[in-house]
Order: sequence, then structure tokens, then C-alpha cells
Amino acid sequence: MAIPESALNSLRDSLVSSTIFTPQDEGYHDALRRWSDTGVKRAGIVITPTAVEDIATALNWSQTHNVDLAIKCGGHSVSGTSSSAGGLVIDLSRLNSATVNPSTKTITVGGGATWKDVDDALAAHGLAAVGGTVNHTGVGGLTLGGGYGWLSGEHGLTIDNLLSAKVVLADGSVVTASEEENADLFWALRGAGYNFGVVVEFTFQAYDQPDPVYAGIVAFTPDKVEAIVSELNTLLVERPDPRSGAVCIFARPPGAPVPMVNVLVFYNGTKEQGESRFNDLLALGPVANMIDTIPYNHLNALQNPMATYGDRKSFKGIFFTPPLSPSFAKMMLAEFTEKVQSDPDLGASALLLEFYDMAKTVSVPRTATAFASRGRTQNGIVMLRWTDSSKDLEHRAWARDVQGRWKAQLTEEVEGGVPQYINYAEPGDSVVSNIYGENLGRLKELKAKYDPANVFRKMHPINV
Ligand SMILES: Cc1cc2nc3c(=O)[nH]c(=O)nc-3n(C[C@H](O)[C@H](O)[C@H](O)COP(=O)(O)OP(=O)(O)OC[C@H]3O[C@@H](n4cnc5c(N)ncnc54)[C@H](O)[C@@H]3O)c2cc1C
Repeated sequence: MAIPESALNSLRDSLVSSTIFTPQDEGYHDALRRWSDTGVKRAGIVITPTAVEDIATALNWSQTHNVDLAIKCGGHSVSGTSSSAGGLVIDLSRLNSATVNPSTKTITVGGGATWKDVDDALAAHGLAAVGGTVNHTGVGGLTLGGGYGWLSGEHGLTIDNLLSAKVVLADGSVVTASEEENADLFWALRGAGYNFGVVVEFTFQAYDQPDPVYAGIVAFTPDKVEAIVSELNTLLVERPDPRSGAVCIFARPPGAPVPMVNVLVFYNGTKEQGESRFNDLLALGPVANMIDTIPYNHLNALQNPMATYGDRKSFKGIFFTPPLSPSFAKMMLAEFTEKVQSDPDLGASALLLEFYDMAKTVSVPRTATAFASRGRTQNGIVMLRWTDSSKDLEHRAWARDVQGRWKAQLTEEVEGGVPQYINYAEPGDSVVSNIYGENLGRLKELKAKYDPANVFRKMHPINV
């Protein structure tokens, strides 16, 4: 149902700092844009505030007029949890300031910032924080669902480095959440955060980060897949090193006839240290080696060419407990290859498998924050990309089938907790029945306290 003109006018009249886009306004279509076209919905009104008062006003207005609400940061939700069909979108992208305090080695960023904003601001001070590995993703969504990246081996999850958050609650009040203030809300924000309010500011601990680091992609022909997975298993399980990580990516580089086995490697150290770590992998005979020494704030741009905006996308989390069976990986590569070769429209798809050191992450008890997926389980993603919207159901069904196959591999091996990473699952895509695991009970109590009317319910809702 369309929002009545009188209601729209009342919102327009009460906002002090926002740019406003309704279907009649220039810029409306750009304001709907998301990382994936599957996330685009025709909102009734989009506002891009720069002042917290406008967020409180808009939250109250949406409840008074019973208007659907969505909060957008980086806009990477493929199912559209940061979009609204006909309702109100509060787009935080202009709240993207990034202020570094070099003496405490902390950074305070707006709730609409991207990880590029964070990486670049910190780099100017020789620092870095634990953020995502694709730098155009939003700080908001990634942090509120746990968050991890290349520095997690050394420093844990993004939420383990969150010091405080400023939140606009459903009733419009603005509160700080930290270990000292509203500690229960702070607990809930760290892993289930999209359910509790609009986070307008995050403060993170950062760390000294010498440049350059050793990183880049090395590409192998598909016949090497078992040897590569064996070597990545060895590095992770037998030779763990918190300064290092790798992502194995089945994808077709431009010009290649079939998907290749591409490995993005990282060592937080010198060229010599990196080469020594990945010596045996490199000895497997890559057809292309793009590893280099680069400034840390370039690291999270390396995957950007494979993760561009546009087209339709499905992003489904898979998981495995290492060591990953090389023969299973080989079978999955064969199936993936068959699928993408059968439909040229899927040519830019990828299957990613992460190999990150989890020791620091699991050193924090699972109930210390709301994040239920702490464990040694590794994550991966089936990332399909296509243009033909008539194939949406077909492609998603295939990806779901693949997800199920990975889950079936795992069942005996899960060591407790929730194997699937909440940020790699979207509503309807989760292969577990309870993504909050043992933390659900406490989350329900806190939801009743902080958002009893369930205003924030788009991403993995907590039903009281
Ligand atoms: C290409 C790509 C790479 C990725 N890499 C990583 C990675 O390296 N590590 C990792 O941990 N995850 C990664 N992810 C997963 C990522 O963490 C999630 O997709 C995350 O939700 C994206 O956040 P966003 O702000 O960009 O998205 P949005 O679509 O804007 O938001 C996602 C959800 O969070 C809510 N939300 C966002 N900001 C706020 C806020 N400030 N206050 C309240 N609610 C908010 C939105 O309402 C929405 O429901 C990746 C995803 C993609 C697509």
C-alpha cells in the first residue's frame, strides 16, 4: 500500500539533515541501488540523514504510520534486508566519518561507513582494525553479525574489537552500549545486532600495522584441486600461524575456458616470511602468480574485481571443519564447473572456501557475546551471479542443494554451536533452524526489553 501523501509530507517537514528520495525525486533510482540487483526494492521513501535526530524522527514516524522500515549501510544484503518494498529506508551512507585516535589506537566510524573508510583512515596512522576482506562492504552489517577478516587470526572477530556503539533505539532514544554502559545491549549487538536499533557510531580497537604485507592471487588448473586443498589443510591444521590465511576460489578468470583453482594468500609480514609459508603451495605449479608485497589498506581491495556491483546474485554460506576432504572438494569443483559451463549467464560465479586461523576467535567463550558461530568450523560461499531474472528460483535452488551437501558432510564433526556464519546466511537461506544457538533465550529477553514492538526484524529476526 502506498504511503499517503500527507504522511510523506509530515516526514519531509520534520527532517532537518536528510536528503529525501521519493519516486518523483531525481536520484531515487540511484538511492535504491544495492550490491546485488536481487536486493533492490522500490521503497516509498529513502532518507539519507547526517544527524541522529532525523533517525529518531523517522523511526517514530514509521511506527506511527505503520510503514515498513529498512536500515541500509553498505547495501550488500542479496535478499534485500536493507531495502523496503513501498516503505521507508534509512540509508546511513552519509554517516561515514572515520576518526582515528592515535594515542589510544582506536577508530570511531559512522554507522554507514564502509571498510575502505576504516582501512584508509587507519593506514594514515600506521594502524589497522579487524574488518572485512572486500572493502566496499558496510561496517554496519558486517560488525552486527560478528565480522572477521585477514587480521582475525591475530585479533579475533570484529565484535571482539568493538569497544562501544551509539544506538538509536526503536523509541527514538539514543544510548551508548559498551562493557560499562548498557552492557546487556552491547552483548546483544555483538552477533545479533541488526535486531536492536540503528547503530550510528562504532568505536573499534586498532593495532599497529607495518607495511607492506605479502598477499595476492595464485591460479592453478583444476586438476590440482586435491593437492591444493591438502596443502591448505596442512597449513591450517598442522602449521597454524595467526598472521596468515588463505581463500580458495573456484572461479573462471577472464579468458579462461573453465573455472580455475585460485588461491588468495595473505601473510602479515615480509616477502621472505610469506614465501616461506606458501613455498609448498607455490611448488604445485601455478599458471599465474600475482602475489606481491602491498600496503595493508590495498589488501581488502584485491577481491573487488571479483565482487563488483550489479547483476543478480545469490550468496549462500557453506561450512566445513578442517581438514577439508580433498576428494569432496574435487567433486564440488566438478559440479560447480558443470553448472557454470551449462549456462553462460553464470560465468562470473564463484565458490569460495576460507582457511583462517580461528584460535584467537575461539579463545572467547561462545556465550560472551551473542555470536553463536564461534568454533573451528571454516566458512565458504556459493556465490552465483547472473542477469536473467527468470532463472532466480532455479539458480537459488541449485545453490541451496550445494549448501545441503556441505552440511551433510559436516554433521558428525560439528563441535557444538552453530556451524553456519550468520552473515553468510540470509533469512530463508539458513541451513540451521536456530542461527543464534544457545544465545537465543537471552536474546529474546533483550529483544523484549529494547525492541518490544519488533521494529527491527528484517535480518534473522528474533521473535519474542
Ligand atoms: C562481497 C562480500 C564480501 C564479504 N566479505 C566478508 C568478510 O570478509 N567478512 C565477513 O565477516 N563478512 C563478509 N561478508 C558478509 C557481510 O558481512 C554481510 O553481507 C553484511 O551484512 C554486509 O553489510 P552491509 O552493511 O554491506 O549490508 P546492508 O545490506 O546494508 O546491511 C545488512 C543488514 O544489516 C543491517 N544493518 C547494517 N548496518 C546497520 C546499522 N548501522 N544499524 C542497524 N542495522 C544495520 C541492515 O538493516 C541489514 O539487515 C561479505 C559479503 C559480501 C557481499
